[in-house]
Amino acid sequence: MHRVYNFGAGPAALAEPVLKKAQSELLNWNNTGMSILEIGHRTSDFMHHVVEKTEKNLRSLLSIPENYFILFLSGGGQTQFGMIPLNLLARSPSLEADYIDTGIWSLKAIAEASRYGKINIAASSKENQYTDTPDETNWKLNKNAAYLHYTANETIGGLEFQSIPSSSTPLISDMTSNLLSEPVDVARFGIIYAGAQKNISAAGLTIVIIRDDLLGHALPFTPTLWNYKTHADIHSLFNTPSVFAWYLAGLVFEWIKEQGGLAALAKINLKKSNLIYQTIDESNGFYKNFIQPHARSKMNIPFFIQDTRLEDMFLKKAREHDLVNLKGHKLVGGLRASLYNAVSLEAVNTLHHFMKDFEKHYG
Ligand SMILES: *Cc1c(COP(=O)(O)O)cnc(C)c1O
Repeated sequence: MHRVYNFGAGPAALAEPVLKKAQSELLNWNNTGMSILEIGHRTSDFMHHVVEKTEKNLRSLLSIPENYFILFLSGGGQTQFGMIPLNLLARSPSLEADYIDTGIWSLKAIAEASRYGKINIAASSKENQYTDTPDETNWKLNKNAAYLHYTANETIGGLEFQSIPSSSTPLISDMTSNLLSEPVDVARFGIIYAGAQKNISAAGLTIVIIRDDLLGHALPFTPTLWNYKTHADIHSLFNTPSVFAWYLAGLVFEWIKEQGGLAALAKINLKKSNLIYQTIDESNGFYKNFIQPHARSKMNIPFFIQDTRLEDMFLKKAREHDLVNLKGHKLVGGLRASLYNAVSLEAVNTLHHFMKDFEKHYG
């Protein structure tokens, strides 16, 4: 069987032991004589071996305090752009909220929230052409805001917050592309959310970690299924959940435990991203990344070749070396390497050597 090195941004690489485990039990899951794909989500098997176990493992991996609910929802990361204002804006009598603009994903969240309330852009990376996170000392926070939202890692721009901002209102973070890449102090947040198809599982699942006092404030016209409380009250089993993606997330949590947990993964992830940034920085301008070094993403590295005409050749040659999905997002062009947990150090080393050779040949 031939597998390639997959640097795609999402849906993205999954660890091979996870896929093999899923394969080995696909026809007969947990001795039920049925596939996980065929089983009822309210059966005791699903309850014990998926619902309870995934919650317990995720709580332990991230040290999630007891006063936080973990929701396993459907609909993907962008559903949260609407669910958050619908569930929380009413905490501010004037329906106000603060957002930080660091790029394409935060702007989409801002556009959606603006349909429901008065959104204040408290700080923006626009002034530095989205090459840096905005300096926290200049943020114009609104004390009447229902919450403060920011995108922890801009998957397309390759910009990542290296520390958690301070906020007197509940802090909400889109961690779609970096949740579980390193430990995070959950107690600092009101809500953390992530679409699962990048660093966690298959597409279809969205994880929401929410502090209990933020439930029960939904605007009256919020659809039942978009109300967090609906799901918190019933272990995310109000409607039929994304059964397979939820199960697969469970296998990923087990795999992370076997790797030594998030602290161990964080070390490897740092090593991986350092190697590629070093390759770029040592290329005398042959490769370029425009993000300020202290704000560079450890998960997604957009880069460009000085002579952009070489980028198609780069992709073609990379493919011949089994290095795939390195094309940049269509909005920014260029190239991008996503280095999620499941992208091994070996894969990144192979990319590093390929980049060096390509530079030597065409530079
Ligand atoms: C991919 C991504 C999303 C959107 O995810 P969908 O599941 O496609 O809606 C949102 N935010 C960030 C940071 C992302 O990387």
